[in-house]
Amino acid sequence: MKYSELKQSLKNHKLRITDCRMDVLAYFKEMQRALSFKDLEDKFQEYDRVTLYRTLHSFEENGLLHKIPGDSGSAVYGLCNDCDVESHHHNHMHFKCTSCGTTECIDVPVEIPALSLPKNYKMTDMDVIVNGVCNTCNSN
Ligand SMILES: [Zn+2]
Ligand SMILES: [Zn+2]
Ligand SMILES: [Zn+2]
Repeated sequence: MKYSELKQSLKNHKLRITDCRMDVLAYFKEMQRALSFKDLEDKFQEYDRVTLYRTLHSFEENGLLHKIPGDSGSAVYGLCNDCDVESHHHNHMHFKCTSCGTTECIDVPVEIPALSLPKNYKMTDMDVIVNGVCNTCNSN
């Protein structure tokens, strides 16, 4: 991804351009998988934790990243496709590889099954996490 495209992407999400934001966004685009705060800390030792944390937070607020619920208490973040500053809107599933531990956003629409919830429960959305063996692990 080109520098100018990254810049444009930040602008479109009403984010001021900083080195840290540019670097973090470029890294997400390059990796094409979900990343945790720890991944960013390991990768970007030149930035302090607070700066990285704020960057993640602003990306999530402004529709660049979404939090993917993890099972270990450490959340991972995935790139949004076409969310904007106003709101997040996606209905893709998440795939967690039991072999390498990687989480990915899988961009196929998910049919939300008709669930019969108890009376007075109203569903607003659903997180679908599929566990299995990913493409990379399968080809090795
Ligand atoms: Zn989103
Ligand atoms: Zn894997
Ligand atoms: Zn996702």
